Amino acid sequence: MTINYQQILDEIRREVSPFSDEGKVADFIPELALVNPAKFGIHLITTEGDRFSTGDEDEKFSIQSISKVLSLSLAIKFSGEKIWERIDVEPSGNAFNSLIQLEYEHGKPRNPFINAGALVVADMLISNLAEPKEDFLEFVRNLADCPEIDFNYKVAQSEKSHGFRNAALANLLKSFGNLENDVEQVLDFYFHQCSIEMTCRELAYSFLFFANEGKILHKDEQILTQSQIKRLNALMLTCGFYDESGEFAYEVGLPGKSGIGGGIVAVHPKTYSVATWSPRLNEKGNSVLGMRSLELLTTKTGMSVF
Ligand code: GLN
Repeated sequence: MTINYQQILDEIRREVSPFSDEGKVADFIPELALVNPAKFGIHLITTEGDRFSTGDEDEKFSIQSISKVLSLSLAIKFSGEKIWERIDVEPSGNAFNSLIQLEYEHGKPRNPFINAGALVVADMLISNLAEPKEDFLEFVRNLADCPEIDFNYKVAQSEKSHGFRNAALANLLKSFGNLENDVEQVLDFYFHQCSIEMTCRELAYSFLFFANEGKILHKDEQILTQSQIKRLNALMLTCGFYDESGEFAYEVGLPGKSGIGGGIVAVHPKTYSVATWSPRLNEKGNSVLGMRSLELLTTKTGMSVF
């Protein structure tokens, strides 16, 4: 049976619209609070290269924590399994910027998708890359097949001047000996990686290699091995939505990752990659309409990883 993805996306757009006033735009990074909360877009690309979309799918937004999957991919490319000596692979059950757990677990972050874990990954990239920020950007541009992708320097600066919790996390990590580089340098890299702007279209394509056995579609470039892809998809499923990861697995049933810019990207292994964007977030920091849309997508297609 062939699935009519376009019809399904159109139905989803109609069915989620009554909920478009629910949730709140992230405001702890002032520059992010300026976004129009009514934006809504979806882009889905299959491993055959077919594309389907609706709404504001071609408008750039701040990918924020979604970048953590891309930085982790690059760190794994360099260092393989060794990275797990410094970060664990367990769901945290805590908010993404929580400090408490890091203290009582002696500076080893629960997973690479909470902020503490992503700061350790940033530290690894700084140690391994000649021009850390530029080289990371090139990696993302290649995955997205889009040379124009860039940081939003205003957003990075805005987060830097309000990133007190991240500064606290980085200092705590340093005090436990889990950062090799200077706290300032790690924070600067992290704020820039989070400020990257992409459209749903670019995001869906840049995550397609997670559905395509580690290869970039049409480029035949192997980014990660099949076994590494399996592990990363497992991590997205169990840790991609912070303390709402169980809920996302329960409702949607796909590996995915959210960001406080309102983006969510999810993959159906071997079938498709899909990105949604809607800036209003629930109290856990995940996009309200994005979660609803993806729940409808796996329900209407009758396909999830389960
Ligand atoms: N830059 C944000 C932060 O560090 C990212 C958080 C997110 O998207 N969940 O707080």
